[in-house]
Amino acid sequence: MHNRIIKSYAEVLRFSLPVIDIVPHMFAIQDRNIKDINNIPQLPKTACHKGCDSCCYIQVSVSPPEIFYIANRLKTFHNFPEILERIDKSFEVMNHKRHPNRPVHPCPFLVDHQCSIYEFRPGTCRQFSSYSDKACKQGLINQEKGLECEVPTGQIRMHVCQIPPTALVKKLIDMGLEFHGIELIEGLHLALHDPTAQERWLNGEAVFADCVLGVVNPNEIIEAHSRFLNHDFMEMLIQKVLEMEIESVKSI
Ligand code: SF4
Repeated sequence: MHNRIIKSYAEVLRFSLPVIDIVPHMFAIQDRNIKDINNIPQLPKTACHKGCDSCCYIQVSVSPPEIFYIANRLKTFHNFPEILERIDKSFEVMNHKRHPNRPVHPCPFLVDHQCSIYEFRPGTCRQFSSYSDKACKQGLINQEKGLECEVPTGQIRMHVCQIPPTALVKKLIDMGLEFHGIELIEGLHLALHDPTAQERWLNGEAVFADCVLGVVNPNEIIEAHSRFLNHDFMEMLIQKVLEMEIESVKSI
């Protein structure tokens, strides 16, 4: 039933392109997985809509090749100096702080309540969805006050959206390249200010060592690899998460 989603892991592994060039394909496969889930009639629609930006105030973790792909795209923009200024400003405000000590600050790509890099936004941004925009708005208010707030996020969408990036991380591990999750703004700040960063990273240097947000355990990725390639296991897992979500959404 979920064939295309399950095969998306092996699909990313099979790419023989330079690793940074795989990123746009990975984004497209993530979007396709979400679309396949959205087509399941029993699953209610999410509350996400254009102009709702509550989730664009939180820290975002991205893989190193995504950082370079996004940085390279940004450099081609006619207003690149202005974009760089916004990134630099956010970098200063964040000052390497992490949740819950991180100031509540909009992503520098948020313009008029919309993502200005929507087409090539990070994979993590593609993963988030919510069944309640009210809870998201409250979450943002609570965050400013240092309080937590439960948001009914779309778990099945998150699960299927994480399949392609997991394959990309497996590739990075196999290639001996730095693979931890990097804080988006810190990573872009470094990639856009250090012209040697991409080449050094491609040569196996841990150029983002000071920007790590999500530490990845390579053993967990290697262990997960066989499960991701096990069609029956994945079918069962996706079906289980889907059924749990359909049930839990009834109470919202
Ligand atoms: S990159 Fe775009 S979607 Fe992601 S947090 Fe920033 S504005 Fe939001």
